[in-house]
Amino acid sequence: MVKNYMEILVDEIFQEVNIKYKVCDNKKCINDIKSVALNNLEPKYFTSAVSEGEKKAFLLDKQRRISVVASIIEAKKIICKNCRKNED
Ligand SMILES: [Zn+2]
Repeated sequence: MVKNYMEILVDEIFQEVNIKYKVCDNKKCINDIKSVALNNLEPKYFTSAVSEGEKKAFLLDKQRRISVVASIIEAKKIICKNCRKNED
């Protein structure tokens, strides 16, 4: 079995960022933001043969988490431009 761990990381970080900064609660926006962010990030595939430690190291890498946060924020700017919920 092959899994894209960048996808897992984006899901995880989106939740964190959404709690802290209230990115958007619109379900359609959330999916669009994640897909735009994922298209800007390099996918990382691990097979089930890869050790848990290696997968964990990927998910916890600080520099990587920072670029995922940046990609989510960038994507939000594009996706939520016309999203009423985020207008002040
Ligand atoms: Zn939105």
